[in-house]
Amino acid sequence: MKGKIGVTSDNLFPIIKKFLYSDHDIFLREIISNAVDATQKLKIVASAGKYKGSVEDLKVKISVNKEAKTITVSDHGIGMTSEEIEKFINQIAFSGANEFLEKYKDDANAIIGHFGLGFYSSFMVSEEVEIITRSYQEDAKPVRWICDGSPEYVIEDAEKAEVGTDIVMHLNSDSVEFLEENRISELLNKYCKFLPVPIVFGKKKEWKNDKYEDTAEDNQINDIVPTWTKKPVDLTEEDYTNFYHKLYPYGDEPLFHIHLNVDYPFNLTGILYFPKLKNNFEVQKNKIQLYCSQVFVTDSVEGIVPEFLTLLHGVIDSPDIPLNVSRSYLQNDSNVKKISGHITKKVADRLTEIFKEKRTEFEEKWNDLKLFIEYGMLTDEKFYEKALKFFIFQNTDGKSFTWEEYGNIISANQTDKDKKLVYLYATNKDEQFSFIEAAKGKGYDVLLMNDVLATPLLNHFEQKFPEKHFVRVDAEVVDKLIAKENSKESTLSLDEKNELSPIFLAITPKDRGQFIIDFQDLGEDGSPMVVTQNEFMRRMKDMSKMQNGMSFYGDLPDSYNLVVNIAHPLVKKIISEKQETLAAELTPAIAEILKYKSEKEALKKLKAGKKEDEVPQEEKDLLKETESKISELEDTKRKKLEAFGAENKLAKQLVDLALLANNMLRGEALNNFVKRSVELIK
Ligand code: ADP
Repeated sequence: MKGKIGVTSDNLFPIIKKFLYSDHDIFLREIISNAVDATQKLKIVASAGKYKGSVEDLKVKISVNKEAKTITVSDHGIGMTSEEIEKFINQIAFSGANEFLEKYKDDANAIIGHFGLGFYSSFMVSEEVEIITRSYQEDAKPVRWICDGSPEYVIEDAEKAEVGTDIVMHLNSDSVEFLEENRISELLNKYCKFLPVPIVFGKKKEWKNDKYEDTAEDNQINDIVPTWTKKPVDLTEEDYTNFYHKLYPYGDEPLFHIHLNVDYPFNLTGILYFPKLKNNFEVQKNKIQLYCSQVFVTDSVEGIVPEFLTLLHGVIDSPDIPLNVSRSYLQNDSNVKKISGHITKKVADRLTEIFKEKRTEFEEKWNDLKLFIEYGMLTDEKFYEKALKFFIFQNTDGKSFTWEEYGNIISANQTDKDKKLVYLYATNKDEQFSFIEAAKGKGYDVLLMNDVLATPLLNHFEQKFPEKHFVRVDAEVVDKLIAKENSKESTLSLDEKNELSPIFLAITPKDRGQFIIDFQDLGEDGSPMVVTQNEFMRRMKDMSKMQNGMSFYGDLPDSYNLVVNIAHPLVKKIISEKQETLAAELTPAIAEILKYKSEKEALKKLKAGKKEDEVPQEEKDLLKETESKISELEDTKRKKLEAFGAENKLAKQLVDLALLANNMLRGEALNNFVKRSVELIK
């Protein structure tokens, strides 16, 4: 008998072939899934007493015939009668096909799901497909259906002794790659590894006579009861680890696992693992695999699980996630949103549990976990709330605290005069050593926040808790890190500061960004000079490094403060040396500047109240001349001060020592410092 497949579009197959180019290999998953379904249906029918034959040991077999260029998928399932073929295979009724295909051309899953085209995906790789099938029903006749990809098909009587179905795909010339055993193995391994019915491809091989030879045993490629389908009480830690290695043969040992088992309001099972994350965001090679009733669907789960959870490994299986639809649809699906929220909650709850029950182990693994947890806290509000209970702060002495514990520890000593709690931190124990020591000397505690997400995380904490502040230990001299009472102001006048600044500015390194000279009274016993880096500016720069769009800060040079302790005897010595060396030269210049300045003031007074064109040209010229005289004189003065600074070994030595304490003295500058030090000791 001949017939025409019931489609409204004239010829469906060219469209399928044209649009499904990217995912050709899913045909095998679709055909094998049908075979698995048919097998499970036969078991159901048998248990209802409607089928008397044996349902023990039902397998799905894949075979390749290179000469005939065919792939055959054979099952011992319920089979089909010719009426059923007519109903299930021939009537693919749909409308608006072209439009839909155009819209979802890159998403084979969506197309296949939309049309229920599972079986027809075989035409992506075949020039002709045969179905040879025998229904389980007692009087059913075996039938053969054959179709060459045009809407016409032939259906006729066939010979078939056993119940079940063979799908024979005659591969087209573009698809001969699928005749290779390795290619088929690869597909089976990708899609069918955990199907619930044994899938057999050829025989097990063994090494014999210097080559691999087939044994008598079937080569079953799948595990029909994968670990996630079992009850947690029946599983040991080792089972979980073994399963992990089955999923990711080259993966490191995972840190923890979470067994998911939900049946309301949706069905979901799975096992998620916390992997060891390297300290940078390397591209995730091992991804979460998504299954639909043990059929592999995808390993790009973005949109289904929250982004931070995509860093986890493992398996999620849900018959309720509408898998055969497009990604954009998935992301807006309310069920999927619920699932995503639920997984987040489960993960947070499990971490809370591990933290409570095995805190020591949790702390030991913290360094591997923290990047993941920080990422979650930054991107998921609900997760943040739960995570604040198990987030671990580590201080520079290697001790661990929760948020609450740490707050209690520092509150007495690190609350500033405005009642703000100041959290001190270091990002590098070696580079900021002298500052850490200075802070500890004051009885402060210093946190170590040294990973890539530290800066955004601090910003996040400060947003949540406006009365708490994070300050890096080198942001200020130690006395000012936590402002207790109004601290001593420097006793220098503005003029004095202006006169001293060029001396020190002249000897700051030119290639390390911008320096601002800040005179402070740190006491006789304080360091003579300290280099600090403003917290706000540094953080802005850190943030702009992480994200584009804040390039205003990113483009600014690094900015440092050189704090000069005017109470220190050595600094006092430099100031008096300056006085001795330059007074003779500078005093007349200063007097002259003062003279011109008062002239300038006088001229300005004359000008006051007059419109621009009422001022005589003569006066205007004079003012201009006076101004340029002043700047000329000041220029000369500044150059002299700079020259003095550049020549002053003591000043240089002190600046270098301050730089050295910040690990900022390198290369030639360091070499010069060493040489100068030797000379000074001699
Ligand atoms: P879907 O599986 O999404 O329903 P398919 O096009 O893959 O769509 O299959 C259509 C129908 O054909 C199936 O629902 C099933 O009834 C029948 N069918 C396909 N393959 C087999 C098989 N191997 N054995 C029995 N019935 C099958």
